Amino acid sequence: RSVSELQAFLADVHQRHACLREGAVATYIPELAKANPDWFGICIATTDGRVFEIGDTQPNFTVQSISKVFVHGLALEDHGRDVLLSRVGVEPTGDAFNAIVLDEASKRPYNPMVNAGAIATTSLIKGADPTERLNRLLAMFRNYMGHEVVIDVASYISERATGDRNRAMAYLMRHFGMLQSEVEESLDLYFQQCAVMVNCRDLAVMAATLANRGINPMTGDRAVHARYIRDILSVMSSCGMYNFAGEWGYKVGLPAKSGVCGGIIAVVPDQIGIAVFSPPLDERGNSVRGVKVFETISQAFGLHLFDSS
Ligand code: GLN
Repeated sequence: RSVSELQAFLADVHQRHACLREGAVATYIPELAKANPDWFGICIATTDGRVFEIGDTQPNFTVQSISKVFVHGLALEDHGRDVLLSRVGVEPTGDAFNAIVLDEASKRPYNPMVNAGAIATTSLIKGADPTERLNRLLAMFRNYMGHEVVIDVASYISERATGDRNRAMAYLMRHFGMLQSEVEESLDLYFQQCAVMVNCRDLAVMAATLANRGINPMTGDRAVHARYIRDILSVMSSCGMYNFAGEWGYKVGLPAKSGVCGGIIAVVPDQIGIAVFSPPLDERGNSVRGVKVFETISQAFGLHLFDSS
């Protein structure tokens, strides 16, 4: 399709889904409750460096769980596939993203896309001290985003002050020897990564970087070794949408990740990264409009990875 056709298509999709009023903005992290439920942006970034956007693609919000994808990549670079697999599994849980559950036999958290697995993954990030670990994480995000990275301190403090459920998980993992650094240190870095500020356009470029085998298509900078794209996208495919991963795989058929900020990213390998931002969430913690928009876009462009019609 031509550029203007694509832009018109996005405008039409945006308009058709803007009237959806279901869902509720997350409030369990007090700062998240300030999100505007009307915000609604859609952005597509291509692996050859073009960007198509409509709606609220500029407002900043905290990346939340979408960070898990990229930190998983950094942990893979730090330790390799085998060590990482020995610490964090790759099985979907079928449970909510914040379930307090570990694999019965191995005591590993199920996968890096749910909170327990993400906290364990973050605890594996290398660095001499907390500052160096944070700086490595920020440098990694910078390569994906193509500009300086800012942490929303209010969101970070807000989650640290109220995140006892994640704290409980971290203590449970420490009990089983599955946490690499100290509990509060691991949680601090995890809450900081969740408070990285992005907008919808950034997310599309980050997804396009994964689609582009790890190289940011806007800057040409490498964000992650091409070797680990396979691991990252596999785990997104099976676990990125939590206990909706099965239905998502069936209907949309793309590796994806959502967050309680209301963002969802998806990757079409070698072609595009897609991001949708709309804060009201369904009961599983996925953006209501986001899910519907992805169903529409996937169908309209035949993006389902197993589509052979
Ligand atoms: N920071 C959030 C938490 O740990 C991220 C959860 C999410 O986006 N699903 O609860």
